[in-house]
Order: sequence, then structure tokens, then C-alpha cells
Amino acid sequence: MSFNGEAKVNTGTVHRWFVEAASNFHEQRDYLTQLDAAIGDADHGTNMDRGFTALLEKLDGFDGPPGKLLTTAGSTLVSTVGGASGPLWGTALRRAGRSLGSGDEFDGAQLATALEAALDGVVELGAAQEGDKTMVDALGPAVRVFRESIDDGTPVPAALAAAREAAEQGMKATVPLQAQKGRASYLGERSIGHQDPGATSTVLILAALERSVASER
Ligand code: ADP
Ligand code: MG
Repeated sequence: MSFNGEAKVNTGTVHRWFVEAASNFHEQRDYLTQLDAAIGDADHGTNMDRGFTALLEKLDGFDGPPGKLLTTAGSTLVSTVGGASGPLWGTALRRAGRSLGSGDEFDGAQLATALEAALDGVVELGAAQEGDKTMVDALGPAVRVFRESIDDGTPVPAALAAAREAAEQGMKATVPLQAQKGRASYLGERSIGHQDPGATSTVLILAALERSVASER
């Protein structure tokens, strides 16, 4: 499998993505929970760690196309993660999976469309816009930069690196914002000065995708 010439991603790539993401969430669980303790209810790290651990168990031995892997993963997150992030990430993965359909492989343009579908699902469900201090502040710019990079002819690994960098910038930019959505919004001005936990998780998920694809070359 190579990204030189015919760039394709398959079920193995998506499975590695989730293995990487689960490992990131396990390592960063306490950090994410600390971020959520400042402006939420101190459960974000345990939520994501529990969800991705369950997802890996569910997908063990999975045999099917990458789209189906994503929809199954999304449903697992919805049913195992309490809190806002379960339905939000669950919807994101289900929409991405549906967008990929039943093909065995997908290319950069299809991945861009899948990521756009994921973002649309999150925005439809949570009604957050960029600037509201949520995961959308990281995911929105990342999806946009990924699409632009692919349209410019950038290879998928470099486009993912650019997307992850955009997500990091968006994550850092949540610090001075006042939360307008989710639990943190109850704090009003006291939410200012803290990094959004969900935007931080988004960077971890995109970094995992970047690594899973890079390890394929
Ligand atoms: P809960 O807030 O229910 O405890 P988590 O702590 O797991 O859930 O997740 C909190 C994160 O969810 C926030 O940091 C934010 O990024 C994200 N979030 C909350 N509400 C929304 C929303 N309406 N739209 C998008 N993201 C949201
Ligand atoms: Mg929470």
C-alpha cells in the first residue's frame, strides 16, 4: 500500500487509526480530565478512554470495509461514552463511515468528503460554530485545511499533517474564548483562560490518523 501514485486507505489503516487514538487517550486521560475539571465536570479523559477501549474490543477481528468499520466504531462510542462527546464523536464517525460507503479502499478526496461529513454531523447535533470554544474550533479548521491541501495536489500524509497543525492552532485559540456551548458555557466568563478539552481530544484523534497513514508508507 503506497501513497505514491494511487493513494489509497483501507480497513487496516482505519483500524490502526483507532489503535493509535485509544493509546493517545489512555496516555492523556488524566490531562484531559484536568482540562475538563477546570471548565466542566472532570470526566472527559475517562469518557474518551472508556469509549476507545470499548471500540477496540468491539472491532477486534472485524472483517469488512472501512466505511462499516467507522459506522460500527461510531455506534460503540454513542453507547459507551457518557457525556456530550460520545454522541458527538459517535455521530462524526458514523457520518464519515456512511460517506465512504462499501468500498474497500478510499483516496484523499474521499477522505476529505468523509471528514466534511463528520464535521457536518457534529455541527448538526451540537449546533456549535467556530469560536464557541468546543471541538468544532479544532475540527473545523482541520477539515478545511485537509480539503484545500488535497485539492492542491498535496499527498495524503502531508495533508493530514497540515490538518493536525490547523487543529492544534484551533485548540490553542480556544483558551481566550468564552464557552457558548456545552457544560463550560454555564461558567460564562469564568470559562475564559482555559483550553477546551474536546478541542484537545480532536487534536489527539487527528494525530492518530496522521500516524496511522504515515506508518503505511
Ligand atoms: P460533558 O460536557 O457532557 O461532560 P465531555 O466532558 O466528555 O462531555 O466533553 C466535553 C467537550 O464536548 C467540550 O470540551 C466540547 O469540546 C464538546 N462539546 C460540548 N458541547 C458541544 C456542542 N454542543 N457542540 C460541539 N462540541 C461540544
Ligand atoms: Mg465533561
